Amino acid sequence: MHTILTDSTEDAARLLNSGEVVAFPTETVYGLGACICHPEAIRKIFQAKGRPGDNPLIVHIYSVEQLYDVASDINEGAEKLIARFFPGPLTLVLKKNPAVPDCVTAGLDTVGVRCPSHPVAREFLRLACGPVAAPSANISGLPSSTSWQAVFNDLDGRIACILKGEKSTIGLESTIVDCSGPLPVLLRAGAITFEALQEVLPKITLNNACTSKESAPKSPGLKYLHYAPKASIVLCNPLEPIAVEKDSAYIGISSPPEGVTLAKQCLNPEEYGRELFSFFRRCDSEGIRVIYCELPSATGLGRAIRDRLTRAAGKN
Ligand code: AMP
Ligand code: MG
Repeated sequence: MHTILTDSTEDAARLLNSGEVVAFPTETVYGLGACICHPEAIRKIFQAKGRPGDNPLIVHIYSVEQLYDVASDINEGAEKLIARFFPGPLTLVLKKNPAVPDCVTAGLDTVGVRCPSHPVAREFLRLACGPVAAPSANISGLPSSTSWQAVFNDLDGRIACILKGEKSTIGLESTIVDCSGPLPVLLRAGAITFEALQEVLPKITLNNACTSKESAPKSPGLKYLHYAPKASIVLCNPLEPIAVEKDSAYIGISSPPEGVTLAKQCLNPEEYGRELFSFFRRCDSEGIRVIYCELPSATGLGRAIRDRLTRAAGKN
């Protein structure tokens, strides 16, 4: 298959509406979209990524009104989060509307729904013939793609089209909150922080699956290895001495240890989150064997970075 690269949202939406799989930019990471009205296109997503069939997809909507086409029984907690954070980098797990095909939700009776704020994503979703199921646009298990070039490297020849946009501004996948039960639960940390969610819903709790793979995961995707580059990840505190190996790299906010081949010192957690996956990919393309990553504390955006790092290191 020849993968078309385009800047035209109209051309990309036309392919999507004809049942093809199209990658598109969002503020979190690039998504790999198919219309939920084309179940055969949904199957192409799983094929192109090599994604396990039991890992459900997040459904992307253009407007809050579209929510009622994919979800039902939306409770008060969910309504508060929608009012505060939609459109934006937040996915809500809600009771599923029967109109959503089972292949999208991996047979669950719930559905993950997000309304992105990215202007190109919004225009693309507006032109789509319905809600768009979209996981991250990368080969399963590899770091998510935060640029169209990263999507191209992973998926050229496997998907119909890449809608080109700028580099993703957040660079980490959406926060996921389960609102399908009586009490809201944070399933995946992201740019909408636990603290910000607590301000709206003081009773929100952390799911064990956020921190451990031992318990039965509430979110099926959490049990798989994620975000991992080819290089090994070593979690570190750069203030303590590190025996730096040959062909190694460092990313973090503190100054890099001496002797690494490649280093990225970020100004703040926002930059760390934005640069993390593109740095992993750069390290792989430059033959780096070990990446030392500073482990931030589990507060604010640090919680999301920490989660991605520990998963990439195979530590949870
Ligand atoms: P990705 O889009 O590749 O970032 O992966 C989507 C994540 O959302 C995976 O971890 C899924 O397990 C999770 N997810 C999607 N739908 C649901 C759902 N209905 N219930 C719980 N988790 C979900
Ligand atoms: Mg993913």
